[in-house]
Order: sequence, then structure tokens, then C-alpha cells
Amino acid sequence: MNYYSLNSPSTFVSFKEATIRGQAPDKGLYFPEFIPALPDELLQNLSTYSREEVAFQVIRPYTGNTLPQSELRRIVAETIDFDFPLVPITPDTSALELFHGPTLAFKDVGARFMSRCLGYFVRGNDKPVTVLVATSGDTGGAVASGFYDVEGIEVVILYPAGKVSSVQELQLTTYGKNITALEVDGSFDDCQRMVKDAFADPTLQQQLFLTSANSINVARWLPQQFYYFFALQQWADKDNPPVISVPSGNFGNICAGLMAWQSGLPVNHFIAACNANDVVPIYLTTGDYQPKTARPTLSNAMDVGNPSNFVRILEIFNSRLPSLRKMLTSYSISDEETAAAIRELYTSHHYLPDPHGAVGWLALQRYLAEHPGTKGLFLETAHPVKFYDTVEPLIGNKIPLPPSVEKLLSQQKQSKKIEAHYTELKDYLLSYK
Ligand SMILES: *Cc1c(COP(=O)(O)O)cnc(C)c1O
Repeated sequence: MNYYSLNSPSTFVSFKEATIRGQAPDKGLYFPEFIPALPDELLQNLSTYSREEVAFQVIRPYTGNTLPQSELRRIVAETIDFDFPLVPITPDTSALELFHGPTLAFKDVGARFMSRCLGYFVRGNDKPVTVLVATSGDTGGAVASGFYDVEGIEVVILYPAGKVSSVQELQLTTYGKNITALEVDGSFDDCQRMVKDAFADPTLQQQLFLTSANSINVARWLPQQFYYFFALQQWADKDNPPVISVPSGNFGNICAGLMAWQSGLPVNHFIAACNANDVVPIYLTTGDYQPKTARPTLSNAMDVGNPSNFVRILEIFNSRLPSLRKMLTSYSISDEETAAAIRELYTSHHYLPDPHGAVGWLALQRYLAEHPGTKGLFLETAHPVKFYDTVEPLIGNKIPLPPSVEKLLSQQKQSKKIEAHYTELKDYLLSYK
């Protein structure tokens, strides 16, 4: 299997090269040259296979011959080493909980898979690889946890001082060893700009082997298909496939779901559940795609004004809007509606969602009401404790701390404070090399 850049469909690279580079030199996103069809035997008997076997079968065509089978099996098993339960909420809706990994959000799956692939690919290199990443919250922790102690890889995370939750900050500042957290006196946009400047700097490129671990990397994007298959393993009504609602920001997660469906996974319909950042809901209604600056909301991991993975969704559907509309609906949910959904789920259904999951549930309810006879599930993308400052006042109750968070709260933050100037980042990177 090879990958082409969506900006220049005639040059191809291997899975290894796409993983190491992240983005194509022409700044396009990598896309597989074809979407594999999975064997009918597997699709029809999903629940009789182990999760490891299903995940291995799903990803194997994408890695081609860049990873030996035994290595890939080990990577897959380590990636999904926690639960993915499908929890019933109402007679027609369930939550697929993706927060049972080490940093309590679905991004653990992609980060764990990518770190292990990259670790394998750089084995024996004389220069260590430096993974540089800017985070607004969830990505930093998942990347730190995923890459911790991986040989040959140094990780540098930039995060905006005072703008991530205390749990998120501890998740990215307490590892030490090969993980460095730079606390930037500025905004997330400043962090992202500094990272972009570093990638565009020829002196730095000469001296260091720099790569990124953001969500457009194929090794973070493609393994996100796994849990759509795990959902179907647990779906009881085999004759009535689910409507799947995905809380969406950069649209990597839902795009992975669409790939799974293209490979043969039975899904009735997909819903991209968005907050006030409504570029895609408007596009699907009007056909007009107008990127905007991101607006802050309660579900801040989805505050994205120009979703980077949307071009991949267009590629799946050959940019044909009518076929896309048949399979994908998108709703924009306001903060007031999100707050009301959290309260309703908690009081009427005894389920405590995080703000992102609440957006997913409400969008699902809306679609099911418009399509009688359908049933569905939403992805619960993070544990509510990660957003306790939003959720606790709404439910008038404390959220019990999971053991991993309790342990975290007793640890010491280690960060290096820097100003929001690129030269500070550059000086740091050149000095530690
Ligand atoms: C990153 C994130 C999202 C958005 O996922 P995309 O793949 O960017 O669409 C949703 N919920 C949570 C909790 C996240 O951390």
C-alpha cells in the first residue's frame, strides 16, 4: 500500500515515509492509494474474533510490508490494551466509551499506535527524532503518554500557560525523561505558529530530525478505525446497523469511521456532531465551504474553524456532494444545548457525559427523531473529569476521580517557561540537541 499527497496525486510514498514525514512536502495530506475491502468472513462474524485480531486485520493492508507481522501484532495489542465498552443510555442510544486509556481520551489510540510505529521506523538511526507538537489540551497528554520512554525519540510539547485544565497540564508535564513540556506565555495559536516556524526553518531542519505528531499523520488517523469495529462487535441488532454520531473538530475521528465503512463495516449513517464551529454543517446544507476563525465553546477540543481532515472526507466521496449527503449529516449544537444535554443525561438517564460526548448524544437524538425506526450510538470521546470545571457546576455534584487522576494530582509539574517568540523555541531546540 502506498500513499499520495492530496495536493499531487501522482507521487507515492510508503507507510513508513508517510509516518515519518507527517505531511507531504507540498503540504498536502497523505491518502492511501486504495481503500481495502475486508473479507466477508470477518465482517459477518466480527464478534467471534478477538479485538486484537480484528484490529490487526483492519490495519495490516495499510502498513504494507513496512512492518513485520509479529511487530505489527505487538503494536496493535499494546495500542488497544484497555476497554472500549458500548454502554446503553436509552432504548435507542448507546455510548461507545473511548476514555479508558491512560490519558482518558480517544486520542490515546492514535498516539499509542503512531509512537510505536515511529519507534520501530527510527531504530538504528544515528540522530534522535524530535517530535514537536502544539496542544490546546488533549493532544499533549496523549502524545506524552504514547511516546514516553520510546528509544530514539525526543518529544517537545508546547502548550499555552493557564489555558489548559489542571488535569490536562499534569498529564503533559509530569513524565520527564524524553518528554519536555514548554509552557508558552501566549495562546494556542502562538504555540501552533511557533511549531510551524520551526518546520519551515532550514537551519533547524539541517541540525535536527524534526517530525510532528499531530492528527493528520496517517499513523494516528488510520488506527482510529479500530473502535468502530469494536462497536459493531457489541451491537446486538445485526439486521439494523447503527447510526454513528461523532463529536468532531478536525474531523480525523469521523473520517476514520468513514474509512471503516468503506472497507465493509455495516453503518446506517454518520453524524458529524459540531459545536458553534459550523463550517461543515453549513457546507452540507448549502454546498458552500467557508473556513472561519475558531470560536471558543464548552467542548473546546472541537473549536476548529477549518477542519484539516475534511479534504480526506471529500476524497472518499470523490468530492460528490450528493453521495456525501447520503452518508453524512452534520448538526451544530450551541453551548446552551450542550449544557442542557449534560443535565438531561445525568438526571434522566443516570449517565455523566463530558461536553464533547453531550454534543454527540444530542446530535444523535436529533437525527433519530427525524428518522423513525433507526437506532444509534455516539462516541464518548473523553472522560468527564477532564472537563470537571464545566461539568461539575452543571450537575451540582463532584465527579469521583479515577485512580489515574488521583495519582496524577500528587505529582509535580515540570515545565520550562518560554515567551511566545519563535527564537526562544529555536534556542531551546538547538541547545538540547
Ligand atoms: C480531539 C477531540 C475531539 C475532536 O476529534 P477530531 O478527530 O479532531 O474531530 C473530540 N472530542 C475530544 C474529547 C477530543 O479530544
